[in-house]
Amino acid sequence: MPSETPGTATSDAVEVINPGGRGGLVLVCEHASNHIPDEYGGLGLTPALQQAHIAWDPGALPVARELARLFDAPLVAARQSRLLYDCNRPPEARDAIPARSETHDIPGNRALDEVSRRARIARIYQPFHETLASTIAATGGGTGGGAGAGPAMITVHSFTPVFAGRHRDVEIGVLHDSDSRLADAMLGIAPQHTIRKVARNDPYGPEQGVTHTLRRHALPAGLVNVMIEVRNDLIATPDDQLAMAAMLHGWLAAAMTALGVARREREETCRK
Ligand SMILES: [Zn+2]
Repeated sequence: MPSETPGTATSDAVEVINPGGRGGLVLVCEHASNHIPDEYGGLGLTPALQQAHIAWDPGALPVARELARLFDAPLVAARQSRLLYDCNRPPEARDAIPARSETHDIPGNRALDEVSRRARIARIYQPFHETLASTIAATGGGTGGGAGAGPAMITVHSFTPVFAGRHRDVEIGVLHDSDSRLADAMLGIAPQHTIRKVARNDPYGPEQGVTHTLRRHALPAGLVNVMIEVRNDLIATPDDQLAMAAMLHGWLAAAMTALGVARREREETCRK
């Protein structure tokens, strides 16, 4: 599903893939891209670091795209590197425009003046979140459109197997903030859907500030929500990405059915 296909809305900061999706949920990929426009001079980083996990979530976008296809759901994806602006952080967060990531200095973010900082917020953060808000508003709820029913919101991320020299054993993180309904449902049925090592709020949790998108869009509206973190060595190839998406699709669909937020056709698919 390339971004040039009809029915795909795009801008410099954000694209909406399958905007007319009717599956009753909205997918989000804040760290989809490692793109740094030429005028930023690569933020002073080597080409290798511009490809590294500090710049984006490798593999997350293909997994999210396949989930969007399987669920017939809209996918809101960032089109700029999180090193320019991390769309999963509010403007007041110190790491929204990180001067350092893991063990690497980001020269182009050091001593950024207020005008440049505001320009990044206006160019990347604001359009991303305005587009996500309008996509949620345009997407019906999974319960079939009852009063107050909104779509479920699922954010898709990947994490590096080795961080700051330490190996991470967890393979799939199921993350949540104060609303743990969907995460609880997923964790309760995880053994029926995956042999992967699954953990709650690992390798990150809300205390690290990683639930901004959930807090901004899902919690105030009461939308059922979860943030999924997949270890990126498990989604390094197209085949692995499709297999991971297929597994997550079955797992998420069953969890949403258990919560009563699945569309009828999805429930019927699951019963087969
Ligand atoms: Zn991420």
